[in-house]
Amino acid sequence: MSRCVTLIPGDGIGPEVTQAAVDVVAATGVDIEWEVAEAGEKTLRVSGTPLPDSVLESIRKNRIALKGPITTPIGSGFRSVNVALRQQLDLYASVRPARAIAGEGTRFPETDLIVVREATEGLYSGVEHWVDREHTAAETVNIITRKASERVIRFAFELARREHRHKVTAVHKANIMKATGALFQEVFREVAPRYADIAAEERLIDNMCMQLVKKPEEYDVIVTTNLMGDILSDLCAGLAGGLGVAPGAIYGDRIAVFEPVHGSAPKYAGQDKADPVAEILSAELLLRHIGEREAADRIWRAVWETIAEKKVVTYDLALPGYTARPVPPSSCSAMAKEIARKVPLVDLTKPMPRAASVEKGAIDPHLEA
Ligand code: NAD
Repeated sequence: MSRCVTLIPGDGIGPEVTQAAVDVVAATGVDIEWEVAEAGEKTLRVSGTPLPDSVLESIRKNRIALKGPITTPIGSGFRSVNVALRQQLDLYASVRPARAIAGEGTRFPETDLIVVREATEGLYSGVEHWVDREHTAAETVNIITRKASERVIRFAFELARREHRHKVTAVHKANIMKATGALFQEVFREVAPRYADIAAEERLIDNMCMQLVKKPEEYDVIVTTNLMGDILSDLCAGLAGGLGVAPGAIYGDRIAVFEPVHGSAPKYAGQDKADPVAEILSAELLLRHIGEREAADRIWRAVWETIAEKKVVTYDLALPGYTARPVPPSSCSAMAKEIARKVPLVDLTKPMPRAASVEKGAIDPHLEA
């Protein structure tokens, strides 16, 4: 029986990379019926809203979505569709694995960590205003609650336990933010002792950034608040090979949306140039989530082998990089086609390639498949 999944192509490079992911999933033979739901700039032009109710209804019905990136205008214009989706569907745990693939595109081939970011409150709560008419001052309210902190910190420990990770690092700025930072820290200190099998430590955000770019291999699962997590997960994506290869998922208690870390990269829109791997690996996480483990393993191995071979890779992986072996860049669709071609051919009896975190990749403590 086919499984209905909401598909949001999104803006910019979104339609290209989501099509790539759909094609690669099709190569696994898993029977998915994609229910296309448009959101973003196009729907704003056509129907006056970037997030029609029909999109939310589709996700609520299917409980699972694969999403492309959606543009958010800077400074003015509509509020972020991404933030609205998370808040309206109460998607509170954003999970972003940063796994170096075949040592390509990274100085840190040992990188294998997961950033868990609280996604409903903090500095993205949308509570902000100009202080005066002249716009000489502005305020944004940083909302941190015990409830939201506790559920995301528990999520991070459960994830660490399920994936046989050994450490959770809480990142905050409690020395300066003596209410919001301190509350997150306090809740972490209450929750951590309930997971005696997992080490717990804390880092101030500034120190964490320095530590990550020096020795990312020392970190395992990181849990933090919304804005800090947004920034740290891009940093970690860079450590692992760049935004082109960084997948993600965002979970509520009953709904999960799978989407890459990257945005809509408008300058590459329509050029068939963007790296499809981040979206393809987001679909891989989706397949694990619905219990299609073998199909997910096939995708992971096919991606790994395609990048390791470095014959058909997009511009970001074709650079000389750190292997000093540049190749002519392939298109987004050509790379997706190569990955899809390999999916049925890969040998799953061989040990899975190094980033063991993928083997541990079904990241949902709440949903049954
Ligand atoms: P971006 O991630 O879109 O792009 C930054 C740069 O990263 C690009 O210029 C490109 O060099 C590289 N890049 C990103 N994706 C790539 C890919 N698949 N392959 C190869 N290179 C890739 O970030 P931005 O330019 O800051 O944001 C553009 C728009 O995307 C903004 O409107 C922003 O609000 C939105 N955005 C959306 C999401 C989301 O939908 N979840 C996330 C982040 C940003």
